[in-house]
Amino acid sequence: MGKALLGVLVALLAPAVAAAQGISRAESWGAVATPAPGPVRIIGSTGLGCIAGAVELPDDGPGWQSVRVSRNRHWGHPAMVAWVQEFAGRARAQGFPDLWIGDLSQPRGGPMTYGHASHQAGIDADIWLDVNPKPRVPAAQRENIPVVSLVLPDGSAVDPARFTDRHAALIRLAAEMPGLDRLLVNPAIKQELCRRHSGQAWLRRVRPWRGHDSHMHIRMSCPAGQPECRGIAPPPPGDGCDATLAWWFSPEARRPSPRPPGPPPQMPAACAAVLGAR
Ligand SMILES: [Zn+2]
Repeated sequence: MGKALLGVLVALLAPAVAAAQGISRAESWGAVATPAPGPVRIIGSTGLGCIAGAVELPDDGPGWQSVRVSRNRHWGHPAMVAWVQEFAGRARAQGFPDLWIGDLSQPRGGPMTYGHASHQAGIDADIWLDVNPKPRVPAAQRENIPVVSLVLPDGSAVDPARFTDRHAALIRLAAEMPGLDRLLVNPAIKQELCRRHSGQAWLRRVRPWRGHDSHMHIRMSCPAGQPECRGIAPPPPGDGCDATLAWWFSPEARRPSPRPPGPPPQMPAACAAVLGAR
């Protein structure tokens, strides 16, 4: 067999081989540079899933600049990409400077080798809580933008020298956007929002989670027409400024949670075709 023909065969077989090697391997998903062909199809959940037909958020536009674009993680369901663009436009109309946009999903979603456990189904986005005026920066120079925590090192509260009304207003703007399922911020940020805005309906969608002291994590509800997308239960009624928030400041919350017994959950089998599609 000629070398050229062998090369073609290897290229043809490579995706199938990668799929067979185990669709739960993050390396497999991280190595694919392009989306699977459409139509758009979300399979599974944000913590264990994938997406075909994803589209890419442009590196910048009115009101936003994506950071660390070399990671190739600014892909998502078209509704997610439109959400980010709409949000950036609304923030801009309210006088906010450009927003730094962190990771969305990989071109086909799936697990990542570093950085996130979720972001697997094209419906998550990280938006930095940086409301300082900023110039237009060439994309290549947005790889190492300093990350500034808004929370004290001991995690007990926001840093009063850093957290402002503008941060609260930006979070509220996101929390009130259509299509949002929930928004994750550090427990200390949620606590501060409760202190300032207790009882307000938008707080229900702002949920505490570890990390997230410099950015908010946007999670959309499963978009319409995606029957294989698995959402999670909506946040309980109320503003969440209650015992569930107080728990995050308990010694128990600071201990790493034990791994649940049994084999790790498997990705939906249909994701093999998404990983291998050409
Ligand atoms: Zn995130």
